[in-house]
Amino acid sequence: MICDCCGKKGAVTKHVTRSFGRGKGILVIENVPMVVCPHCGQNYFTADTLHELERLRLHKKGVAVQRVAPVIRYA
Ligand SMILES: [Zn+2]
Repeated sequence: MICDCCGKKGAVTKHVTRSFGRGKGILVIENVPMVVCPHCGQNYFTADTLHELERLRLHKKGVAVQRVAPVIRYA
């Protein structure tokens, strides 16, 4: 695909995990498509992706999966 920043071809989509908010309101969204350009080094989300992220955040109560990370004791 074509990079929005430098206009060159070769930008690729990479799926990343992003966290939004902080503290108790934090929300982690996995598998978010991020555009990465090897020419200018820019990485960004498309307008469609940002729109979808906003929608997911507004509806997070219905779609969020509660996960608990494994914790071990240092002793
Ligand atoms: Zn670029």
